[in-house]
Amino acid sequence: MRHVLNPPNPYDRYSAEYVGEPPPTKLEIFEETATKKVITKAFASDWEGGWRYTVNCYRGCVHGCTYCFARQYHEFLGYGAGTDFETKIVVKPNTPRLLREELKKTRDKMPHIDFSFATDPYLPLEAEYQLTRQCLEVCAEFRVPVGVITKSPLVTRDIDVLLKLAKVSVFFSLPFLTKESSNPFEPYTPVPEARFRAMKTLSDAGIQTGIGIAPVIPGYNESDIPGLLERAKESGATRAFMSMLHLDTDSIENYFVEKMYERIPTKAAKIINTMKRERGGTLRHRTYKERSTGKTEQCEVTTKLFDFHAKRLGFRQHEKPAEPEPAALPVQQSLF
Ligand code: SF4
Repeated sequence: MRHVLNPPNPYDRYSAEYVGEPPPTKLEIFEETATKKVITKAFASDWEGGWRYTVNCYRGCVHGCTYCFARQYHEFLGYGAGTDFETKIVVKPNTPRLLREELKKTRDKMPHIDFSFATDPYLPLEAEYQLTRQCLEVCAEFRVPVGVITKSPLVTRDIDVLLKLAKVSVFFSLPFLTKESSNPFEPYTPVPEARFRAMKTLSDAGIQTGIGIAPVIPGYNESDIPGLLERAKESGATRAFMSMLHLDTDSIENYFVEKMYERIPTKAAKIINTMKRERGGTLRHRTYKERSTGKTEQCEVTTKLFDFHAKRLGFRQHEKPAEPEPAALPVQQSLF
């Protein structure tokens, strides 16, 4: 059973502190009618090319990865970045309709749309709502190239729609090789083996797939990199990227550290010490440049390891997408 654990919301004047044991959490689903544009211009510092256009049909994510940068967006809604992010899920059922309306106006300026950055597009709820599926159908209609990033095999349900798209790549976020090493950081996600199986199913169907080894947690999963790339290769993936762990806000850092001490107490100190050693005494990168280009000592060593094995196995790494014409789109600081 999960209990409420939310770091204080920096946008609230007051935050709750429980006396004694905090109450258990329960899953809550909220339906929201989106009134603004649903295509968001998001900055992904680790993604070559930087700016991306993203669509998110949901907010919050039951997968509950402790490192997730999207936790901070739940604070904008007045929720917490901790268990609230994992248990209070906002659904936007009118996203496909709004997407169609927007694409009628902006299709020429839209080089590529990613599903998604602020949540996993294939949450278990998607089995029922089918909003990501409907959005993909809209993209097929307008011939917009699409990227999907997910941790869920549910994406295989949509092979028929994915095959209709003008151009598509499906990346599986897979930073850990085993269930045991994944569990402390991704407690409610499908196990790595299930993601590799889904990757193979899509690859066999003729869909371009890739692996995202993100995040690499200093002192924890660097040694998984060669094995992950090999498993991805066996599963038909042709593209790969990696990025180091970024903890974007105090709330995310606090939650990440607390969960690490709770779940892997004997390894937590080593990870924290490794990160502090290479990040000037803090868990964050010292400068935005370091954060956005990953130019720390640890990162360089890890990147060389990744590059070596990616090249050995014949992976294509990310290409810079064509820059769009300036478009009047909402901007969200979404850091991949
Ligand atoms: S699956 Fe993606 S969006 Fe969901 S918690 Fe994990 S990293 Fe965040």
